[in-house]
Amino acid sequence: MQSATRLLQSIPVDELTGAISVPIYQTSTFVQEAPGVNKGYDYARTGNPTRRALENILATLEYGHSGYAFASGLAAIDAVVKLLSAGDQIVAIDDLYGGAFRLFEHVYRRFGIDIVYCDTTDPAQVAAALTDKTKLVWLESPSNPTLKVSDIAAIADIAHAHGAWLCVDNTFASPVLQQPIKLGADIVVHSATKYLGGHSDLIAGAVVAATEEIGLQLKFIQNASGGILGPFDSFLVIRGLETLPLRIERHCSTALKVAQFLQTRPEVRAVYYPGLEEHPNHAVAKKQQPGGFGGIIALVLEDDTQEAATQVVTGTKYFHLAESLGGAKSLLCHPATMTHKSTPVAQRRAAGVADSLIRLSVGLEDAEDLIADLAQALDRLSEAKETLKEAVREAEAQLA
Ligand SMILES: *Cc1c(COP(=O)(O)O)cnc(C)c1O
Repeated sequence: MQSATRLLQSIPVDELTGAISVPIYQTSTFVQEAPGVNKGYDYARTGNPTRRALENILATLEYGHSGYAFASGLAAIDAVVKLLSAGDQIVAIDDLYGGAFRLFEHVYRRFGIDIVYCDTTDPAQVAAALTDKTKLVWLESPSNPTLKVSDIAAIADIAHAHGAWLCVDNTFASPVLQQPIKLGADIVVHSATKYLGGHSDLIAGAVVAATEEIGLQLKFIQNASGGILGPFDSFLVIRGLETLPLRIERHCSTALKVAQFLQTRPEVRAVYYPGLEEHPNHAVAKKQQPGGFGGIIALVLEDDTQEAATQVVTGTKYFHLAESLGGAKSLLCHPATMTHKSTPVAQRRAAGVADSLIRLSVGLEDAEDLIADLAQALDRLSEAKETLKEAVREAEAQLA
């Protein structure tokens, strides 16, 4: 588990004034004494002190060489793909975040980058997919939304043996639970919109490079493409980070209770949560995120239809129906029609995203209230089914 002290120590006190919180440097440029003679900053796309403070904290949190803050998680992913050139190949996890899939397939494929997908929970499939064109292996662990856990250390070895880099989207675990660079990854990305910000009040992304070589290239791309995070949002992410370990601890303990409750319900066919012993990757999850299993749960209904899922996601009071995750307030969503609507149906189903799959982002409310909320939504699903059965029985009786 990440040390809360280490995190809080990494947030600097302002050298100029002693301000305990990082000041918001809302400026576009910095006055120079003579051309090229400045105080370390010249233009705010290239560098801004508030953003720099966040970037240094991110590098500390992820045990990397340097960090870079972007305007969104997708801008962060975009910057990483720009490390590649036409003719290069990416080997990616098959249930990739829908937005990353859209970027890979509909933008970068046009630019001559090839992407192949495989089930990365089996390292042998990654080894089989690698070619001499592979420059990047792309993992999400746990993945969105089926909570697949891939063995980062094993896959790092495979990627490195082929001269490829390993990038891990660490959004779901957060650096509190998992530090991919310590396990051998070369690059870590985050949608800081989620747990890092933690309050559902901003869009932001982060990249952390393990080495100076990769760091310098990312710094160049960040400045050249310009998808930077603004100073106010940088400040908000820093403020969110102050409570990250505390929040993650609570998300984990409540999510485990909710997952165990869902397992007892007849309306639920499957519960995906890496903390459950029944989860196919539970052993790997325990090894690489020993501090906990996160706050995201997915479930598939016994009645595996979009209609049943719609009824549940519109029938809760504390779980709000919305995309996104990782905030204080609990959210739920229906990936087939929301986050994964850009993934082709056959590919979505093949990757385990069933028609009735519902993703829960377990927030900071009391566990018993969240459980009661889900219980009443599932009760109503059973009641509706009973009413339907009765109507069919009556109609049949009348016809007979
Ligand atoms: C949300 C998300 C992203 C995209 O981040 P944005 O901040 O929405 O651009 C990328 N990866 C994962 C795993 C996500 O959940």
